[in-house]
Amino acid sequence: MPDADNTARGQLTDVLKQLNAVIHRLPAAEDALAAYEQRPGRDFALDEVQRSLSALHESLQMAYLQVESAAVVVDKDQPVDVAYGNGKPWGGPQRPHYVLGLADRAANGTARATTSYRRRLRDGQLAESMDPTCPHTRYGQPCTSERVNRADGTRAAACWPHLTPEQKQEISVERDKAITANACSECGAAAGEKCVRNGKPASIHQRRLHAPQGASS
Ligand SMILES: [Zn+2]
Ligand SMILES: [Zn+2]
Repeated sequence: MPDADNTARGQLTDVLKQLNAVIHRLPAAEDALAAYEQRPGRDFALDEVQRSLSALHESLQMAYLQVESAAVVVDKDQPVDVAYGNGKPWGGPQRPHYVLGLADRAANGTARATTSYRRRLRDGQLAESMDPTCPHTRYGQPCTSERVNRADGTRAAACWPHLTPEQKQEISVERDKAITANACSECGAAAGEKCVRNGKPASIHQRRLHAPQGASS
């Protein structure tokens, strides 16, 4: 059993405790509002306050359950999908309901590949490979363009202008392959046709680039 401070649940102890305290105070406020609304000859209509309070109650309760369940996924080291539903690979800390979605897809067999959430989160090489910052300089200043997206969710060595001719060639081949294999679910371009944006041929859409090769969507 790892140190409690190192578990996802352990790190959330204070957050969950305080959230829980707030949630438990809400029914008393809801009761007071309901009683006021029943009061004969009341001065005000507090129906709007009632509605926002009950919406708050519901969303806090949902948030609490999601945080708690996501912590279980992490602490049990359950497998999670390496990508979101749209095929884009994830990196960095995720929102709890995303983690639950990633775990669901890994559990029902629709995920293409699975991983351990924490292993992926802590993978420095992976984080580096997904970092969009171009390492080159332009006129003595750091380059502000983003490194080119690769089909596997990582980034190329640099932004397009800073890639070598060989690197550009390799990425063009990869994109042509995705264009040949998949229709684009973003702009509707058929397999073999270029993506379009505002009626003009455009660079490949993310969704198409990351789609499993040979899938129709
Ligand atoms: Zn650059
Ligand atoms: Zn497209």
